[in-house]
Amino acid sequence: MAKSKYGVLVVSIILSLTACSTNSSDSSAGGDNRPLIATTVSPITSIAASIAGDRARIEGIVPEGTNSHTFEPSPQIAKLLSDADLILVNGLKLEDPTIDLAKSNKKDDTEIVEIGTLVLPESEYIFDFSFPKEEGKPNPHLWTDPGFAIKYAGVIRDELSKLDPENASYYEENFKAFEQQATALGEAVSADQQSVPAGNLKLLTYHDAYAYFAKEYGWTIIGAIQPNDFADPSPSEVADLIDQVKAEKVTTIFGSEVFPSAVLAEVGRATGARYEDSLRDDDLPGAPGDAEHSWLGLMKYNYRTMISGLGGTPTQLDAITIPLNTSDSAVYPQ
Ligand SMILES: [Zn+2]
Repeated sequence: MAKSKYGVLVVSIILSLTACSTNSSDSSAGGDNRPLIATTVSPITSIAASIAGDRARIEGIVPEGTNSHTFEPSPQIAKLLSDADLILVNGLKLEDPTIDLAKSNKKDDTEIVEIGTLVLPESEYIFDFSFPKEEGKPNPHLWTDPGFAIKYAGVIRDELSKLDPENASYYEENFKAFEQQATALGEAVSADQQSVPAGNLKLLTYHDAYAYFAKEYGWTIIGAIQPNDFADPSPSEVADLIDQVKAEKVTTIFGSEVFPSAVLAEVGRATGARYEDSLRDDDLPGAPGDAEHSWLGLMKYNYRTMISGLGGTPTQLDAITIPLNTSDSAVYPQ
């Protein structure tokens, strides 16, 4: 048994060496003939890695801990976009500069797939605090809602299967595993939010990333501090928020590591609400290669932080084990 296993290994090494020496003009450098998929923000990169497994290469563009809403790709990203066989973006106007760079550099037959734009009918666009209607950019954060994350995974499965039909059943299996994990996460949130004292399911966050989640799970978004131009709010806006937090008896307000906020700290001091500053937004927990460095790890972390911050006990979320995706070899720029 071991002998034949090593035999296969030797053959595959020879094959990849051959591929390397004969395919020097091939865009898939290094003898790696798997499709190359460029992705943007890390939660989408992670969902793509869950579906692609070891059959496609996934390379993210937006560094973790970077403000994806104002991100401008460097000219070096043009190289990745010109090599990519598929370009997956959130869309809903989140990554317009990256889409522009992709359009002018991509191969003719490479598709740019705007996943969020595909799964969200225009009638369901949410315009709100940081994404006012007059600016024309809907809130793009669909992936924080487990149901939408499953839809994203479905689009990724379909696109990978189109590109690489031989592995379609493999992508479908990976999709099913992701669907099960995301469903379990959603069920755990629904169960654990019951432990939050009545009337406390209200969110004031710095980053406006939970609109679709809140609609689905029956939470109320009080507001988001980060204005559409990503500058700080004016003193009168801060004063309004302070009044609102007091009137709504908000117990805890949430900032994020990615966007440290003196304003939220001030709102906390002025209202007596606790300032919990550790949501992670697009910044996956741990380091690449860790189990929790994943969409599932990120969402488990954020929702358990919110539920315990609001006075609940996240027992079901704590019980979720995050399987290590050993085939996740995606590139997550840091
Ligand atoms: Zn965001």
